[in-house]
Amino acid sequence: MTQEDVFKRLVAHCKEYGFVFPSSELYDGLGAVYDYGQYGAELKNNIKRYWWEAMVHLHENIVGLDSAIFMHPTIWKASGHVDAFNDPLIDNKDSKKRYRADVLIEEQIAKYEAQVEKDIDKARKRFGDSFDEKLFRETSPQVSAHLAKRDALQKRMAHALNANDLGELRQIIIDEQIVCPVSGTTNWTEVRQFNLMFSTDMGSTAEGSNRIYLRPETAQGIFVNFLNVQKTGRMKIPFGIAQIGKAFRNEIVARQFIFRMREFEQMEMQFFVKPGTELDWFAKWKEARLQWHQLLGFGKANYRFHDHDKLAHYANAATDIEYKFPFGFKEVEGIHSRTDFDLSQHQKYSGKKIQYFDAETNESYIPYVVETSIGVDRMFLQVVSASYHEEELTKEDGSKDTRVVLRLPPALAPVKLAVMPLVKKDGLPDKAKDIIDRLKYDFNCQYDEKDSIGKRYRRQDAIGTPFCVTVDHHSIEDNTVTIRNRDTMSQQRVGIDKLADILKEKTALSGLLKQL
Ligand code: ATP
Repeated sequence: MTQEDVFKRLVAHCKEYGFVFPSSELYDGLGAVYDYGQYGAELKNNIKRYWWEAMVHLHENIVGLDSAIFMHPTIWKASGHVDAFNDPLIDNKDSKKRYRADVLIEEQIAKYEAQVEKDIDKARKRFGDSFDEKLFRETSPQVSAHLAKRDALQKRMAHALNANDLGELRQIIIDEQIVCPVSGTTNWTEVRQFNLMFSTDMGSTAEGSNRIYLRPETAQGIFVNFLNVQKTGRMKIPFGIAQIGKAFRNEIVARQFIFRMREFEQMEMQFFVKPGTELDWFAKWKEARLQWHQLLGFGKANYRFHDHDKLAHYANAATDIEYKFPFGFKEVEGIHSRTDFDLSQHQKYSGKKIQYFDAETNESYIPYVVETSIGVDRMFLQVVSASYHEEELTKEDGSKDTRVVLRLPPALAPVKLAVMPLVKKDGLPDKAKDIIDRLKYDFNCQYDEKDSIGKRYRRQDAIGTPFCVTVDHHSIEDNTVTIRNRDTMSQQRVGIDKLADILKEKTALSGLLKQL
């Protein structure tokens, strides 16, 4: 099965099992907007808790904030979003499809990278055990040629984007002979800029209305509250403010499911530091954030940093953490050293002083900012695509069977324990419900009495429940149950009074957080 097929199945699975539905499906959907179903909402909340607790509860010098989506429109003038939050768009005249010019070029860059991987795979097959990948990368003329093409293209694109040279962006697309995936032609329009902010009107027409924007990032809510939080929390630099909330971008092309949405959620943390120390903090946060991702156990090799060639004019360092999705390495999180740009701009546009007084050195300054910014939905996609497995099983009688299992990190799983009476009589359902009543205050449990035990196990595997407990006739006599492990499928007899400890040890978020 190709990675594309795996991805299609994953999307279908997310819908079939109540994780993610297309928004407004009853009315044929709304482009790039999605709803989270009963299990999706739980998983999303657990991801948010993992982030919030790692940021806010584990750091004495980071506090939370929940700012409004609507903000004074001048904020977006000051931040540069009104004038510069644009994407370069291009249309194919034959298919009438619209694309982001920079994304078309990035896909071409990825093609050169894929060719290098192909060269390596071929050589590995040819040389067998004696294959030395590092040496091959350094000495193969073919690999060097592909890498040189990739680097040259990357440089040319960065240059065009930095210079805001839309004609050059189009020329790159022509020179690289990039075709429209739908029509297969190079019949392109000019490249134009497109502002990504949604706007609406606030106030009635009688009293005069104001054009306001739906925030395209949560960060500005943090910047404009910098003094409020610093003063009321008596925060000393370095300190951070963290926020989780919705953001809106009128994306030109919305593809790949919840990877690129028009309404999405961000988890951002702005860390305010003394000028001159920002690059040290940038390096620290890079490592800390990579560790947070890798702790989930999806394989260290599936992550990489992508340092930016094109730096926004206010940034002095920027990197993305990329994860290997079924459609290739893509950004899940950005880490940016934004200097004092945002606070200075708000000082200028509001006319109010935004400074920090450092009592130790007796000086006032505008702090510098290092931010970490991750999309909840992209993180959700990372988690489900890493966890989705189709497995072939051999049954006791030797026949073959398959199961779909979501090997979710137990701390993130929507349901921690399913409790199943073997039969719907003889007091077993009541016993099962008693178990849930004991555990439900600490763990999300689910009762299931329908169908055979085998079918019930499959249903729980498909939603990633780490443990299932079966209540049988012995349970009534001796207060024991069978507990089954999702990943190993092994079963064990345990006392009902031991269940809380087992679940705590294996599924509590604190287990994960303690390793950070
Ligand atoms: P991209 O280059 O993919 O458009 P970006 O660099 O504009 O992303 P940032 O502005 O750095 O993204 O936003 C921080 C994070 O917010 C991203 O790493 C991503 O996880 C998430 N994000 C941004 N745009 C979207 C979107 N349209 N849908 C879902 N998540 C998004």
